Amino acid sequence: MQSATEAHPPREQEAAAAVGSCRFCATALRHTFVDLGMSPLCQTHIEPHQLNQMEPFYPLHAYVCEKCLLVQLQEFVSPAEIFTEYAYFSSYSTSWVQHAKRYAEAMVPRFGLGSHSKVMEIASNDGYLLQHFVALGVPVLGIEPAANVAKAAVAKGVPTTVRFFGRETARDIAREQGQADLLLGNNVLAHVPDINDFVGGMKLQLAPGGVITMEFPHLQRLMRENQFDTIYHEHFSYLSFVAVERIFAHHGLTLFDVEELPTHGGSLRIYGRHAENQKLEVTARLKALRQREIDDGFLTLERYRGFGVQVEATKRKLLAFLVDARERGKKVVGYGAPGKGNTLLNYCGIRTDFLDFTVDANPYKQGKFTPGTRIPILAPEKIREARPDYVLILPWNLKEEIAAQASYIREWGGKFVVPIPSVTVF
Ligand SMILES: [Zn+2]
Repeated sequence: MQSATEAHPPREQEAAAAVGSCRFCATALRHTFVDLGMSPLCQTHIEPHQLNQMEPFYPLHAYVCEKCLLVQLQEFVSPAEIFTEYAYFSSYSTSWVQHAKRYAEAMVPRFGLGSHSKVMEIASNDGYLLQHFVALGVPVLGIEPAANVAKAAVAKGVPTTVRFFGRETARDIAREQGQADLLLGNNVLAHVPDINDFVGGMKLQLAPGGVITMEFPHLQRLMRENQFDTIYHEHFSYLSFVAVERIFAHHGLTLFDVEELPTHGGSLRIYGRHAENQKLEVTARLKALRQREIDDGFLTLERYRGFGVQVEATKRKLLAFLVDARERGKKVVGYGAPGKGNTLLNYCGIRTDFLDFTVDANPYKQGKFTPGTRIPILAPEKIREARPDYVLILPWNLKEEIAAQASYIREWGGKFVVPIPSVTVF
């Protein structure tokens, strides 16, 4: 692991100086995907008493592996430091809970799940998803490393074991509670530093005829739509279908279906099974999506390089908008304090000189400050009092939901702004 204080090599030397090795295939990492400079951990929130203290910043520099083409960050901070007390309660997003409900209602008939089955979710958070299987009479088990969110799950009737997932956890759970007929994980595959231990664990946890589903943001969408703010330290891998398929195959798991979802700016939901289980046939839409990535160059190193130029242009456009708004004496506030907002604010250097404050519906974040940029996080009602001209929506993937909730800003002529894929005022 590289020390946080060591500078990364200058661009012209990078092909010669490797900084670490690929988390999947161990090849030396030498090719930059995008370099977002130094940034603090995006899920840390600064308490008022910490305002006079320093904060650690780490390089936010994504590389692409020349051999397996996995786009990735180095691990600077262990998941134990990030995820054991987690500020993100999934249930605060009503659209995400609805998404989970539709998922449960689709999986039960498709795979014939019932009282005889077991559904297990890795990184089950506060039970936002498994509660829907409980309501449908299907036994569940949540596996969640953050004790505070796991407690909320248990309180809503979702049995949850507080552990990180990997081969060791899978062996223990399989021995004590059996294997999973449906094993799922949403927005977790990209967040595990040891992807081989994680996918290897799924192989052990899955019943012989069972199905895995995993959702993760799709790298093709990230690149096409400038979603560079979804790059943050807790998000270790940036996944294309072809890279994920290679990793699963290495662990004896075959992907047999894939869906494209609108969530998180464009995600994939992959369906996996044991390679030995030939009953579930590979679908035509999977073959089509794989081919689309190949046609788009995802098996060539060149496709990944040069993304940084696109990112710099996006930064300039956002700053140009903010400078102009402030020059015209307009009041601008933020909406939301998500991880992606912190990458955007730090990379672009946006502090209280541009945003008076931001708001978040999660009471856990209210009264705190954004990491690095130290912007106050207040309750959403503060927008009504402040009557801003512009509300910059930081979780742009939830822009419809937020614009509906805060539509009252129209009363005084307020407008919404999203920064990604490029600045849009509406
Ligand atoms: Zn690799």
